[in-house]
Amino acid sequence: MELKTKLRVKIAENAGFCFGVRRAIDLTEKTAGKERKVYTLGPVIHNPQEVKRLEKKGIKTLKDPKKVKSGSIILRTHGIPCNLHKKLEENKNINVIDAACPFVKRAQNTIKRLSTDIKSKDKTIIVVGEKIHPEVIALVSYGSGKCIIVENIKEAQKFRGRGDLNIVSQTTQTPENFNSIIKVLKKRYKTKVYNTICKATLDRQKAAEKLAKNVDLMIVIGGKNSGNTTRLAQICSEKTKTYHIETACSIKEKWFKNINSVGLTAGASTPDWIIKEIEMRIKEVGAKHYLEFISAADIK
Ligand code: SF4
Repeated sequence: MELKTKLRVKIAENAGFCFGVRRAIDLTEKTAGKERKVYTLGPVIHNPQEVKRLEKKGIKTLKDPKKVKSGSIILRTHGIPCNLHKKLEENKNINVIDAACPFVKRAQNTIKRLSTDIKSKDKTIIVVGEKIHPEVIALVSYGSGKCIIVENIKEAQKFRGRGDLNIVSQTTQTPENFNSIIKVLKKRYKTKVYNTICKATLDRQKAAEKLAKNVDLMIVIGGKNSGNTTRLAQICSEKTKTYHIETACSIKEKWFKNINSVGLTAGASTPDWIIKEIEMRIKEVGAKHYLEFISAADIK
């Protein structure tokens, strides 16, 4: 393959690990440094390669906590259902370490407060998010049966319920989806909105969108099971040709044919070492050609 022009590679601001994920990984590694039996309940973060790296250090990913008789169980960044959390805490042989992100906790506490607040007694709590995402399943568990999940505008249009609405969000939703659902519901209901989208998500989305507008190709790095990475890929694909990959071996040389610029970004659960591997692979591909890496700060 011949590249006729200089291939510029630009890296988005705010790519990779967010505060909540870094905290969860630090807690996990610190615990493994002190204790022998360390488990995470489900993957501690949504990145299969990072989870594998932790497994190599002896940290086991659990599906069924009942199988554990003793040791430490680390609870993932995006939370677990409140009754399961309570049950684990009751087992005195198990040390429960809650690695749920403070922003997720804030969303859980908002729902818990609204579900018990006497003034909100007759109100339904709308959770804007993905029905099958672990964070949303956990959020709903704090709502004492008052939560309804709405994923998109279509569902908002179909929604029929009684009383006023309190609306909260999964932390990794896009403001566009959140706001468009609010707009639809506001036409028929009295609503109060609690914006629980986290800033790390917003920062990554804005930076990815800005970069995608300025390049011929975007590569979004992160777990296919990561909600925030998938949304970055969606946002970028609305602006330019986009590939969502987990590892460097997915990169194809033909992607770079007839293009001048490539943008890179990564979800909040993507570790630096994977981003570096992908940069290296692009450099290898680009080594045969004229390649220049620049930072997003240089993008006009
Ligand atoms: S994306 Fe936001 S809510 Fe999720 S772990 Fe990171 S900081 Fe916390």
